[in-house]
Amino acid sequence: MSQTPTNAHRATRVLVTGGAGFIGSHLCERLLEASHAVIAVDNYQTSQPANIRHLLSNPGFQILTHDVIEPLDVEVDQVYNLACSASPAQYQRDPVGTLRTNVNGTLAVLGLAVRQSATALQASTSEVYGDPERHPQTEDYWGHTNPIGPRACYNEGKRCAETLFFDFRRQHALPIKVARIFNTYGPRMMLNDGRVVSNFIVQALRGQPITIHGSGEQTRSFCFVDDIVSGLTKLMSSPEDVTGPINLGHTEEVGIRELAEIVIRLTGSHSTITHTERPEDDPSRRLPDIAKARRTLDWAPSTTMEEGLGRTIEYFDRLLRDGAATPK
Ligand code: NAD
Ligand code: UDP
Repeated sequence: MSQTPTNAHRATRVLVTGGAGFIGSHLCERLLEASHAVIAVDNYQTSQPANIRHLLSNPGFQILTHDVIEPLDVEVDQVYNLACSASPAQYQRDPVGTLRTNVNGTLAVLGLAVRQSATALQASTSEVYGDPERHPQTEDYWGHTNPIGPRACYNEGKRCAETLFFDFRRQHALPIKVARIFNTYGPRMMLNDGRVVSNFIVQALRGQPITIHGSGEQTRSFCFVDDIVSGLTKLMSSPEDVTGPINLGHTEEVGIRELAEIVIRLTGSHSTITHTERPEDDPSRRLPDIAKARRTLDWAPSTTMEEGLGRTIEYFDRLLRDGAATPK
C-alpha cells in the first residue's frame, strides 16, 4: 500500500499507529491542531471509527484500515507507535495476536521509520516493570515480570518492542523515543474496554454493582489523557539524544477501593460494591517516579483526578444517554 498525506504544505508528516484508539485519537487531534499532516492506521480491534469521525473533514488527516503486522509504505517524518490493545481483558483475548502486534508490528513500523529516516516513538508501558519490587518505579528499574503468565503477551511483548527500538538505534542509527505510559483514562475509552476507570464509571452510571478485584488494596495512579498526549508530543520534539525510556504518569497513588468510592461520590450513584477474584499476576502497587520527565521534558500532569474523572463521567453519561450499544 502506498499513500501520501493530502496536505501539500510540507507540514510535518506524522504516522500514528492505533490512531483510532483511545489515546491515539486524542493524539491525532493534538497533532492536527499543531498543523501537522496526520496518517492514522488502525485495525479497529479495540476502537471504533466514531473516535476519529470528527477529524475526517480535516484535509491534513487520513485514516487507513491497516494491521501493523502487514508492511506499510507511507511518506512520513515521525511515527508514533500506539497500536496494541492496552486493557488486560482485551489483550488477553488473543494473546498470540497481542504478541504479533508488539513484535512483528513493531518490526514493521521500525522498518518503515528507517526507510523514511523518520523519528520513531514507542508507546511503552509501566507494565514493563511487572509486579514491581521497587516503589515508586524509576526508569533504571529492570522490572519483575512473569514471562509465562497471562499478562506476558502484553508486558513481555512491550519489553521486546523496547528492545527492538534500542537495537534499531544501535544497528541503524534510527532516532527513537520510548515513553513508559502509566494508567491513563479519559473520554473515548470503549464502554466495554474493561479497564478499571471506565468499568467503575459505567457501572456507577448504570447503577450496577462496582466490581473490585480482590480487596481493592492494590494501587495505581491515574493520568488524564490530555496530559499524556502533551508528554508524548514533548518527547517527540525533544533533542535527538533524548531517547528515554521515560515515565509518563500521574504521581498520586490511589487504592482501587478508594477509586470506587470517589467514582460513586462523583456520579452520585447508588451502586453497591462487590468483590470478585483478583486476576493472576495483577500488580500490587504501581507509581511512576517522573523526575526524568520533569527534568528532560519539563512535563508533569496538570489535571487533577476529580477534574479528569468529571470529564470522563460526562463523556460516558452522554454516551449512555445517546443509547450506545450494550458492551459486547
Ligand atoms: P486502545 O486499545 O484504545 O488503543 C489501541 C489501538 O490500537 C486501538 O485502536 C486498536 O484497534 C489498535 N490496534 C491494536 N492492534 C492493532 C494492530 N495489530 N494493527 C493496527 N491497529 C491495532 O488503547 P490505548 O489505551 O489508547 O493505548 C494506546 C497505546 O498506549 C498502546 O500501545 C498501549 O500499550 C499504550 N499504553 C496505554 C496505557 C493506558 O493506560 N491507556 C498505559 C500504558 C501504555
Ligand atoms: N480492577 C478492578 N475492577 C475492574 C477492573 C479492574 O478492581 O472492574 C483492578 C485490576 O484488578 C487492577 C486495577 O483495577 O488491580 C487496574 O486495572 P486495569 O485493568 O485498569 O489496569 P492495569 O493497571 O491492571 O493494567
